[in-house]
Amino acid sequence: MSPSPDDTVDARRTEPGRLRRSLPLIGGAVLATAGLVFGSLTVANAQSGDHQPPSIGQQAAQVQAEDAYAPVNGNTELNVNVLEDQVEHYYGSATATYPVVGTVTIPAANSNYAKQMKQIVDNAESYLSAARHAYHGAGKPAIVLDIDDTLLNTYDYTLASQFGYDAATNAVWIDNAAFPAVFDMPQLVSFAADHGYSIFFITGRPQSQTAATITDLTSAGYAAPESGHLFLKPSTPPSYLHCAKAPSCTTIEYKSGTRKYISSQGYTVVADFGDQYSDLLGGDAGHQVKLPNPMYYLP
Ligand SMILES: [Mg+2]
Repeated sequence: MSPSPDDTVDARRTEPGRLRRSLPLIGGAVLATAGLVFGSLTVANAQSGDHQPPSIGQQAAQVQAEDAYAPVNGNTELNVNVLEDQVEHYYGSATATYPVVGTVTIPAANSNYAKQMKQIVDNAESYLSAARHAYHGAGKPAIVLDIDDTLLNTYDYTLASQFGYDAATNAVWIDNAAFPAVFDMPQLVSFAADHGYSIFFITGRPQSQTAATITDLTSAGYAAPESGHLFLKPSTPPSYLHCAKAPSCTTIEYKSGTRKYISSQGYTVVADFGDQYSDLLGGDAGHQVKLPNPMYYLP
């Protein structure tokens, strides 16, 4: 029997320090983050003889529980500065120079992040290729992609802002196309297009950043989005979005509602790519692909 997310949350809450401290440090943030969030679930699965990986919904529930958890022992908590150092080891260190922004640190091509992305893209290409051959649906096959830390890597901004975020300074990076492509994602998007998938983009960036966002994508090596295929978050929700506290929409409401709208236009979303669980939940997502992002959490 598979453990429910609640089982694993309870296990996590009883012994948070032990779970964290028992993690192997080899591999830095990759293993630490994976073990931190999913360690108890993996163990529980192994004990039950069930090797099903946790679903995206289960993974999201784990992170939500982590986020809400109040530690009882500050000495066994992972120190924030240590975690930041691990994140830096994960991304590695290369440089790039952009207008106005200047020279910044970007992820290195030999980093664990690059290696993990290559694996994810290899798997995604295999999936999309097989799904395309097997596809007999009525709708036109499509994929949906988030933008920040799914197609464009924002590590340079995260470092410059000392792991913080400010909309005004972030806009300087956006306005100067100062984000490199996420490793191997231009290749994946081309692969999908070559295999007959329509490409849709759904980002939480505001609609006022539409022109800059198109420039950011093309500067990083992506083809410009087709007309009507790029969705930025509107200040007032369009009629096809149904948000519980309208005019305010949660990320899940906005993104899943937009995917539902895309589906209503004669497409079938075969796969959905995002670095946040909120990019993937809520329906109409097809195959959900979670990309790594240990920098920040957006519920
Ligand atoms: Mg993102």
